[in-house]
Amino acid sequence: MAEYDFDLFVIGAGSGGVRAARLAALSGAKVAVAEEYRVGGTCVIRGCVPKKFMVYASEVSAQLKTAEGFGWSVGARTFDWKRFLQDKDVEIARLSGIYVTNLQKAGAHLLHGKARVVDAHTVEVLPKEGSQDAGRYTARRILIATGGRPVRPEFPGVDLGVTSDEAFHLPTLPKRVMVVGGGYIAVEFAGIFNGLGVETTLLYRGANILRGFDDDVRSHLADELEKRGIKVVLGCSHKSIEKTEQGLLSTLSNDLTFETDAVMFATGREPYVEGLGLDKVGVKLNERGAIAVDKHSKTNVDSIWAVGDVTDRINLTPVAIREGAAFAQTEFYGNPTSFDHELVASAVFSQPPVGVVGLSEAEARHAFGKVDIYRSIFRPMKATFYGGQERCLIKLVVKQDDEKIVGVHVVGPDSPEIIQMAAIAVKMGVTKPQWDSTCAVHPTLAEELVTMREKYMPSDVGVA
Ligand code: NDP
Repeated sequence: MAEYDFDLFVIGAGSGGVRAARLAALSGAKVAVAEEYRVGGTCVIRGCVPKKFMVYASEVSAQLKTAEGFGWSVGARTFDWKRFLQDKDVEIARLSGIYVTNLQKAGAHLLHGKARVVDAHTVEVLPKEGSQDAGRYTARRILIATGGRPVRPEFPGVDLGVTSDEAFHLPTLPKRVMVVGGGYIAVEFAGIFNGLGVETTLLYRGANILRGFDDDVRSHLADELEKRGIKVVLGCSHKSIEKTEQGLLSTLSNDLTFETDAVMFATGREPYVEGLGLDKVGVKLNERGAIAVDKHSKTNVDSIWAVGDVTDRINLTPVAIREGAAFAQTEFYGNPTSFDHELVASAVFSQPPVGVVGLSEAEARHAFGKVDIYRSIFRPMKATFYGGQERCLIKLVVKQDDEKIVGVHVVGPDSPEIIQMAAIAVKMGVTKPQWDSTCAVHPTLAEELVTMREKYMPSDVGVA
């Protein structure tokens, strides 16, 4: 009889857990995956994927406006929220089904129910309605990939608001919304609501949105959001929310009040470790409450690993996938692998979107002292034709001593697509002369990236 029921027991069937489980199972290992909700995790069920569908839906209103600028006559503009949600849910169910099929094809056993660690080699799956999977299972290795979940601030009436989890299922589209926070989720949802015709206020407690991003990106995006009709309120937070006859009354720290129909909190996410039994087995958490791991995603307990948002390294789907894959390579293919967390590109699907790889100007100055900046702010060709006022920002941060490009920042249409390609060169250590030797593709927005020759001095107005 085998020493353990499974070679690997994965807790959480999101991006990181599924990738690790599939790869491990394909190596011939006996693998179980427990999921308490739906297979696919945050990304597929209530994150990246449904969010992108909502972005697509909401972008149409601006596209219709542009269409008129290009000679089209566009008829009645109505948006059917309920129909959109139904179609979105059908597509999400299809994608979740593909995850299930892929796990099965790889030979992994899927167990339905919340799992918790009982000891270093035992996991208990708790009873779940409609599932017969409850019970105790032993495993040589345990991988925790439970992701994160939204957190709300604490003040009277906070429960009257929703988080991103509920925002994907609002029974009706509000007429007025207040989105709270200044991170990825807040600016993305502010754009979604605004594009869908909702009167949108973005409330952020700090001096400018997207803390941690390059300062030019932050101020440029805030301006662009306002141009598109989002009211950006900075340096303010909630005192309370009360229900009124018409909606929800937010009282802010400056004593101003705002009445909206909905308030959405995008005030960060925390590692989902609750109920996992980690304290009992002695798995250490770091000061942010995330599972502490080494470069191979191993915890302080010899038989337990963790990947993805529950480890709070870089909380992005592709990173979780790479961490899961590296774990499987190391433990099941005899190929010690660790994911390199340097120079991971990311995109914010705000409207306009942001694409970033590498360091902000401030980070680069702090790290290297002397840096050169190349910066261009311009109206894209499409906007000049129809009189649109939107502007793009392109910025390169270059280390002075060896001319390596250490940061690329793009705010404008297609910037997520552009940054994916730029990231390859930056990851390879491209220098500014090498970058500039690449001939432009014309007429594109991205050509501006390889045609900036003048160093930017802060006194420049910088409008091309
Ligand atoms: P972020 O950490 O990016 O932003 C949280 C925001 O909430 C910050 O602006 C923060 O302010 C603010 N905040 C925190 N606590 C409070 C409070 N008590 N009162 C008022 N404001 C508060 O988290 P998100 O939830 O937006 O996203 C979580 C993570 O998910 C991201 O960091 C990202 O890694 C990932 N993600 C990635 C996406 C993508 O790749 N496109 C999309 C969505 C999420 P402050 O800045 O002052 O701390």
